[in-house]
Amino acid sequence: MALANTIAAGEVVERPASVVKELIENSIDAGAKQIIVEVNQMGLESIIVTDDGFGMSKLNLSKAVLRHATSKIFKISDLNQISTLGFRGEALPSIASVSKLEIMSRVRGSDGYQISVVNSKQSEIGHASLNPGTKVIVRELFYNTPARFKYIKSEYAEKNAITDVVFKQALSHPNISFQLIMDGKLIKKTLGNGSIPELIDTIYGKNMSDGLKSLSHEMGKIKIKGYLLDPKFVRSKRNDISIFINHRFVKNYALTQSVIEGYHTYIMTQKYPIALIYMDIDPSLVDVNVHPQKMEVKLANEKMISFSLTPIIKNTLESGRI
Ligand code: ADP
Ligand code: MG
Repeated sequence: MALANTIAAGEVVERPASVVKELIENSIDAGAKQIIVEVNQMGLESIIVTDDGFGMSKLNLSKAVLRHATSKIFKISDLNQISTLGFRGEALPSIASVSKLEIMSRVRGSDGYQISVVNSKQSEIGHASLNPGTKVIVRELFYNTPARFKYIKSEYAEKNAITDVVFKQALSHPNISFQLIMDGKLIKKTLGNGSIPELIDTIYGKNMSDGLKSLSHEMGKIKIKGYLLDPKFVRSKRNDISIFINHRFVKNYALTQSVIEGYHTYIMTQKYPIALIYMDIDPSLVDVNVHPQKMEVKLANEKMISFSLTPIIKNTLESGRI
């Protein structure tokens, strides 16, 4: 069992940022409205995620760290599960196998409980005092897998990867307030009030929503909302062209390319815009089977959608709203 977990851990826990991603997703799945992510020493000393979601009962808490103990019902077609597909109920046990894990949880109107897993040994369940919700503490990540330290890149790269995960999650969920604290310093706090311009100013910087243009478009069963930052704000990488499908950040080359082409007349080559494209798509039109971990997604009618997206973006940039 311990060995199986460690093997599975390799798939789920590549680096500290992957732990952050799994824990945030659990908090989102638990209906949290506020998620606080604290990271110390690039996440190698500790990663603490606190949420105000519906929490776990004493029984669920004891089961949560067992393999394949998902409480969630999965439909293959449900895109909202895309990134947990493949490691259903494997995140917490995998994390537990490569760290010292402690979870505290409290269901509203009930007492709080605590459990820890160290060296694959699960503790007795104890009482804990906390607000309703869940707090997961991951200490000493990779303490028992020295080889994995080799894969840790620079401090800069790891911190960047963590920041990226939190920011993309915040952008995917404008109604959830996210806080990222690194080594005791508050990096960002999103309001969670649903306002995309405010979210843009928080994530990208003050006044970045100045000159923002928005679009709203329907193509058959697909609804698209786009927020296009002023072309004067450019990046040297395409990472800030974000595509969200059914509230999940995804990677899709064709759509990203369409956005770049839509901005083409405003931005010189080798520079990229900042844009947010939110799509609501019938899950049956989305192929979730492409590298779920890497968040790559293929759409059934991708050619048609990406072909149409470029002129929509172009027109929006020209006229403001279509
Ligand atoms: P999965 O998310 O695929 O179900 P995980 O290993 O990530 O598997 O989590 C196992 C279970 O623990 C979840 O199904 C859920 O019941 C519970 N759980 C984990 N994190 C939280 C949380 N933040 N709030 C409430 N329940 C949680
Ligand atoms: Mg999970």
